[in-house]
Amino acid sequence: MTALLELEDLQVFYGASQALFGVSLKVAEGQAVALMGRNGMGKTTTIASACRMLPLRSGRVRFAGRDISDWPSFRAARLGLGLVPEGRRCFPNLDVAENLIAAARPGYWDMARVHGLFPRLAERAQQSAATLSGGEQQMLAIGRALMTNPRLLLLDEATEGLAPVIRCEIWAAIATLKAEGLSILMVDKALSELLPVADHCVILERGAVAWQGLPEALTPEVESAYLGV
Ligand code: ATP
Repeated sequence: MTALLELEDLQVFYGASQALFGVSLKVAEGQAVALMGRNGMGKTTTIASACRMLPLRSGRVRFAGRDISDWPSFRAARLGLGLVPEGRRCFPNLDVAENLIAAARPGYWDMARVHGLFPRLAERAQQSAATLSGGEQQMLAIGRALMTNPRLLLLDEATEGLAPVIRCEIWAAIATLKAEGLSILMVDKALSELLPVADHCVILERGAVAWQGLPEALTPEVESAYLGV
């Protein structure tokens, strides 16, 4: 299986403090990989490194057949890395439709398809993004990333802090995206929602991969060793 995204032995620092100690992982075309771990273990740092938003002390990032280790993030995004960042950043002074249009690049995903996935975004097309609920902002953040027509969608805590009903809607949308064949790298702490969508799981512990395998191999013992509170 050829990898769409391959992180190889990433060492990443914030100033003098090391955050990643040789992280390696792969996402194959059409695969959904769950990146897990307790707070502060390096999940967001790994995602940001994949998107080339952080300098690498060493290691390589390969995406879509290219070595993008030395690329700036905007160029990596153009090659097809679609990030939905933690905290769901949208343009608050633009309305919902303008937020989507601002991200648009030609391809399968357009406004109509995003509205099909998240009908609420159609209902609120002319509403300022600043006035959306947290869940709607998350839908907009995912919609914006889809409008770039990414080859890989990176979701960092897509449902954190959201009401159960909205969480369900967002997980259903993620399952739809996966069923359509989109490759996904997702970080989340809600295992009961994450695992059914995942083809493969990677657990980080203090900036290194501590465990990886199939979702069904993630036993209560593994969970309590690396994911328990
Ligand atoms: P969480 O689940 O809490 O979001 P995480 O697994 O995503 O955590 P990271 O945010 O990647 O973890 O953090 C990994 C380590 O790097 C932590 O020790 C964190 O304190 C540190 N770190 C993260 N961002 C910065 C930063 N901007 N400056 C300095 N240290 C940072």
